[in-house]
Amino acid sequence: MSYRLYIPGPITVSDDTFRAMTQGMIGHRSKDFVKLYESVQPGLQKIMATQDPVYLSTSSSWGVMEGAIRNIVGKKVLCCMNGAFSDKWLDVAKRCGKEAVGLKFDWGKPVCPDAVRKELSAGGFDAITLIHSETSTGTLSPLADIMQVVREFPEVISIVDTVSSFTTVPVLKDELGVDVMLSGSQKALALPPGLALLSVSERARQRAAAQTDRGYYFDFLEFQANHEKGMTPSTPAISLIYALQHKVAQILAEGIENRYARHLRLNEKVRAWGKARGFSLFPGEQFGTRGLNCFNNDREVSLEAVNQALKSRFNLVIDGGYGKLKGKTFRISNMGDETDATIDALIGALDTVFGELGA
Ligand SMILES: *Cc1c(COP(=O)(O)O)cnc(C)c1O
Repeated sequence: MSYRLYIPGPITVSDDTFRAMTQGMIGHRSKDFVKLYESVQPGLQKIMATQDPVYLSTSSSWGVMEGAIRNIVGKKVLCCMNGAFSDKWLDVAKRCGKEAVGLKFDWGKPVCPDAVRKELSAGGFDAITLIHSETSTGTLSPLADIMQVVREFPEVISIVDTVSSFTTVPVLKDELGVDVMLSGSQKALALPPGLALLSVSERARQRAAAQTDRGYYFDFLEFQANHEKGMTPSTPAISLIYALQHKVAQILAEGIENRYARHLRLNEKVRAWGKARGFSLFPGEQFGTRGLNCFNNDREVSLEAVNQALKSRFNLVIDGGYGKLKGKTFRISNMGDETDATIDALIGALDTVFGELGA
């Protein structure tokens, strides 16, 4: 069973990445592992534009999203909400027993910097969560403008999810003043699921040190102590780290700017296809993210029928809408290793299938 996945994660993993994963197993306390771990650091720091360490967590992104809450929130967290993932983060903060306030925007609207200022000005907050690219709605929030506001409140530690924006658009962590930046393996990195990346600033680590209920598995101080030895707190998904090593080298070889340009070009290509076929962008052109497009199902096509035909005849899968947007929107990923040729093939298949279904 093998499909090309154009859902916004997990996405298609290339054969060369799979091959990188099949290298022999090594002990996670061995010199070989230290070499592997340390080999990915400079590249990851370069890609994140940070001097801070980049920890490797054997978990999906939610592991470190929850972990960040437990490590960082002492008083009260402001959770910016504009889609399924960001909405959920408020719930997760509450389940961790934290005082949490939601700053709600309609799904498909970006997070508004002025609204963030107004809320933080009310006082009492020592953390904020923000999703840069809300994958459920394909919406990109203006991170630089928001971070400028957050920096007006020195006691507020920023936790930024870049899961579906990472390596598709620039995110200059240190320059923006992002304290905790996280991402996952199965989105634009085009690795299998199971690994999360987490870069934590010095001041965020200091905050973590003051929390008494950090737990163990996602404890930032454990990550740091092990990082200093070139290791992870517990046995990591070593195969995925091999894949990461391969991917980091590939990204640097392509050139990070070229990678952004490729994502933009392919994203525009799919966007133009949708527009030409009468499908508007759910978040509006201005706020559409660049690793995927979320279209309104303006022509009320049966997305189940579309996907059934795409899968059985072309071995392709797109997404038929997330959560309450199921059936009302559809999402097409252009993250990872896609090329003009693969996106052209996808568009050809979409045209055939949509055409036959009378759309
Ligand atoms: C996919 C995704 C997540 C959740 O990732 P898991 O790997 O399922 O934990 C979180 N945030 C965003 C923005 C995502 O796209």
